Formats: sequence, C-alpha cells, structure tokens
Amino acid sequence: MNLILLGPPGAGKGTQARRLQDNHGLIQLSTGDMLRAAVAEGTEIGKQAKAVMDRGDLVSDDILIGMISERIDQDDCKNGFILDGFPRTTAQAEALDGMLRDKGLHLAKVVELAVDEEALVDRITGRYTCANCGQGYHDSFQKPSVDGVCDNCGATEFKRRADDNEEAVRTRMQAYRAQTAPILPYYRDKGILSEVDGMADIDEVTKQIEAVIS
Ligand code: AMP
Repeated sequence: MNLILLGPPGAGKGTQARRLQDNHGLIQLSTGDMLRAAVAEGTEIGKQAKAVMDRGDLVSDDILIGMISERIDQDDCKNGFILDGFPRTTAQAEALDGMLRDKGLHLAKVVELAVDEEALVDRITGRYTCANCGQGYHDSFQKPSVDGVCDNCGATEFKRRADDNEEAVRTRMQAYRAQTAPILPYYRDKGILSEVDGMADIDEVTKQIEAVIS
C-alpha cells in the first residue's frame, strides 16, 4: 500500500508516518530527512538545498522528483511506502503520478492532517529530537521523564532543526498555503483524499488514519 501524508509543517506527518512504518511494515519516505542527510553529508544536492531550507523555502522540483523516483526504486519500498513531505507542489504531484504509472505502482490514499496554523508555531519552535535514536520531544508538551535523558535509548545528546525558528516557520507555513494546499483538490478529484483531525492527540490521529486506510 502506498500512501501520502499531507499537512503543514508540524502537523504530525513524521510522527504518524513512523507509526505506520512500525505497524504496517511500510517505509517512511521523508524528503525533509533525505535533504537534511544530504546537507549533513555535504553532497552537491545538500549544498544547493541548505540555504533554501534554512529560510523555509521550497527546494527545486527537479531535485525532489529525482530523489523520490530513485528512492522508490529501492528494494525496501516493495511492500509499500508513506510519502511524508512529498509532493509539495502541483508539478511534484503530477510528476509523481507519471512516475507511479511508469513503475506500475498505485496510490491507495492521501491523508490530510488538518490543523490550526497558530498552534503549530508553538508546536514547532519547541520541538527537538534525541540525536541518537530520533525520538521526538517538546519543551512544553513532551519532556523526557528524566531531564536531559532520552526515554527511549538513554542518550543525553539532543538536536533541534535549523529551520524550527519562528521566522523560518512562518515562511514554511506560507509555502504550504501558496504551493502545497492547492494540490488537495487534485487528490480530492481523484476520490482518494481523506481528512483527519491533526489537532487531536497523537493516538487519536493514528486511530483516524487507521480507519481511513483499513
Ligand atoms: P520537512 O522536514 O518536510 O519540514 O522539510 C524541511 C525542508 O526541506 C522544507 O522546508 C523544504 O525546504 C525542504 N523540502 C522537503 N520536502 C520538499 C519538497 N517535497 N519540495 C521542496 N522542498 C522540500
């Protein structure tokens, strides 16, 4: 089963994609994670993307489309994947259609996480992750039970994303509104779009997504 999770930054796409990965054996394909890895490795793509990402703008369609097409061809995607952060523009959505057709693949569902934008700014600017295992935390809403120690793996190093500051978050919201939200009708017209309440608590959102894909 191949799925797309759509929603503005901070809507919970990554959290829910990881749960779908664990519960259904689907592979989470986060284009943000792929780009951050390219930046960390200092690849050509990483060098081109870094400043754009730090500002909160979108990286070019060509880069993203090539990246996803190559990734989908890898063996681990055979049982299905969850696109988290892609497509983000109409050009990407159309290119995805073409590549899935060429590869003989099919899109089962597009799940929109509907959220209140103002609440997202607080969610995003307070979030951080364990540098070792990637477990997510938040300054106000989800602290580790022992201060400074990861609940999941015991590590004591944490990291914050360079673009999780208020200015970049506002730019990312604007990019979502202007470039990504317009692809919702595209999937609605295909009859595969379902909306879930992204403001509900994490387990409830998972339950709603499970209902949509069952
Ligand atoms: P994310 O982790 O999904 O919030 O993505 C972080 C940043 O990576 C975004 O603000 C963009 O700069 C870039 N990015 C990720 N996915 C895409 C995409 N599909 N198209 C363009 N830029 C992207």
